[in-house]
Order: sequence, then structure tokens, then C-alpha cells
Amino acid sequence: PYDVLVVGGGPAGASAAIYAARKGIRTGVVAERFGGQVLDTMTIENFISVKSTEGPKFAASLEEHVKDYEIDIMNLQRAKSLQKNDDNMFELELENGGVLKSKSVIISTGARWRQIGVPGEDEYKNKGVAYCPHCDGPLFEGKDVAVIGGGNSGVEAAIDLAGIVQNVTVLEFSDELKADDVLQERLHSLPNVEVKTNAQTTEITGDDNVNGITYIDRESNEEQHVDLQGVFVQIGLVPNTEWLDEDVERNRIGEIITDKHGATSVPGLFAAGDVTDSPHNQIIISMGDGANAALGAFDYLIRN
Ligand code: FAD
Repeated sequence: PYDVLVVGGGPAGASAAIYAARKGIRTGVVAERFGGQVLDTMTIENFISVKSTEGPKFAASLEEHVKDYEIDIMNLQRAKSLQKNDDNMFELELENGGVLKSKSVIISTGARWRQIGVPGEDEYKNKGVAYCPHCDGPLFEGKDVAVIGGGNSGVEAAIDLAGIVQNVTVLEFSDELKADDVLQERLHSLPNVEVKTNAQTTEITGDDNVNGITYIDRESNEEQHVDLQGVFVQIGLVPNTEWLDEDVERNRIGEIITDKHGATSVPGLFAAGDVTDSPHNQIIISMGDGANAALGAFDYLIRN
């Protein structure tokens, strides 16, 4: 069995694995996609000490650093369930049927974009429906797009896209934008952005590709349609915790609750990064979290 088994190969998982391996204990990493969200990121300018880099390049150096240690990397493997047996040993079942045993486990399965769940969203994914302005924004150069969501990520996306596309329509369900004031001011200063509040998106329309968006104006109760070629859904992130058992304590939105040591409600089970209830989801924070959880797991191992 492993001493530490890390589930998830993003910044948090990579950092946890290296910190564990540096203690000379048997360490493995299971990842559906090594690199995680960083693979979908264009430019990274806030990883302190690296002025500017690109996501895929950053992910490659994460993997290179992990490979420098005696760590079993099991890439392209999806975890299906986690149990703790009577001998206090964790058993991680993989989607491929394999079972891995470990004395402690660090969950770092990250998060993904939340879907809006209206007709057309799945159908036109990658045919005009997008989630990542940094990745897909340039594909809509000179076109008209909508951003669904008026929180920080939606408004940031709209500001970003306004520099590339012809027109941006921001659709916010409630009666006001939720983004920070400074972002809203910036947004309102842009000539090619239109904000629609009280707008409930009901459908993304298209033929071969997206050709418009339909929403209900919640004030007048009238259905409205805007012709456009792209829709960016920016309504938050969902933690990847559906595969986990009920007995791991989570908050209302499914994030794993951890203490200062990265420990969860299950002894020997730790968590790090975007999958936890930590308030900010950033690379540098996830990495610090991963290191913290690995040291927490090491403390647990020497006491048990
Ligand atoms: P993730 O990166 O989400 O990694 C999760 C890992 O778990 C992946 O390997 C995934 O494949 C794996 N996984 C998930 N479910 C399972 C399962 N069931 N079984 C096995 N493996 C599983 N942060 C910054 O600091 N600066 C930026 O400029 C920046 N830009 C961003 C741009 C975009 C477009 C996005 C999407 C994010 C950006 N972020 C940025 C946020 C940053 O990428 C995340 O905070 C960070 O990647 C979180 O790391 P993590 O390891 O917790 O999770």
C-alpha cells in the first residue's frame, strides 16, 4: 500500500505529492488529467517569482518536477469511490476497476465550470458555447458574444472579451451585478458592452453553430432574443466531489471542509486546493494548500 495517495494532479496534487515524497514515504498520484485547470489557462502572471508563463508550459513543469521524485503517477485514471476499511486502510476504487490502498489520502480533485443547464448549452459546446475566455476568447474576434453571469468572473470575462470581440452583452439573473465596484466601473466605461440585469437565460439557439440567446426579462416577463455568435457561461465553479461518500463533511456547495492542517472530518483523509472550502481559487494558494495537507498527512502517519 501507499503511505500517501494523492487524488488529483493539478497544482495542489503536484505540490502535495512532492512534499510527501520528500519525507521518503511511498507516494502515488492518481489524475484524470495531470495539470488540471492550468491546462486550460493562457497566461499566468501571478505565480510569484515567475513574471509570466503559459498554462500548458506551467503544467509541463509541474509534471517534470513531480517526476524528479519516486512518485507513482497514474495519469488518465478517474477515481470512482473511496472507502476506509476495518484496518484503517483507505481503498480507492478507479473507474477502470482497479483498487489502490493507502494509509492516508489527499483529495485534490479541483473544480470545474458550472453549467447554466438550458437547451442548447450541451449541443453547442465548442460550437459557440464556451467557459474559458482566456482560452476561447480569440476565436470570437470581431463577433458578438454574451457573457452569462454578472459576478467577478463574468464581469472580468466581459472586460477581457470587449477588447477582442465586436459587442458583449452581459446577462445577469438578479437585479444588479455582483462583481466588485472597481470591475463594474471598468465595465461601464467600455463602449461595446451592454448589461442586462433581471435577465433569465432560457435557451441558446443555433443552426450549425450558436446564432443567438433567448432570455426572459424578469421585470416585464417578456421573452427577448439577441443575435450573436458566442456565449460564455461564467456562473462559478463546482468542486469535483460527486464521487465521494457522504461521510466526508462538505459545505452547501459541495466543497470539502478542512482545518488548518488540511484535515477533513475523516481521520487520515486530507484535502487541498479548489476542491476545499478555501475562499480563493488560485494556483499559488492551491500549491500552499497541497504542501500543508502533505505535512498534515505525514504527522498523521507518524502518530498512527
Ligand atoms: P485543478 O487544477 O482543478 O486540478 C484537479 C485535478 O484533479 C486534475 O488533475 C483533474 O484531472 C483531477 N481530477 C478531478 N476529478 C478526478 C477524479 N474523480 N479522479 C481523478 N482525478 C480527478 N489561477 C492563478 O493563480 N492564476 C491564473 O492566472 C489563473 N487563471 C485561470 C484561468 C482559467 C481559465 C482557469 C480555469 C483557472 C485559472 N486559475 C488561475 C485557477 C487555477 O487554475 C486553479 O486555482 C488551480 O488549478 C487549482 O488547482 P487544484 O490542484 O486545486 O485543482
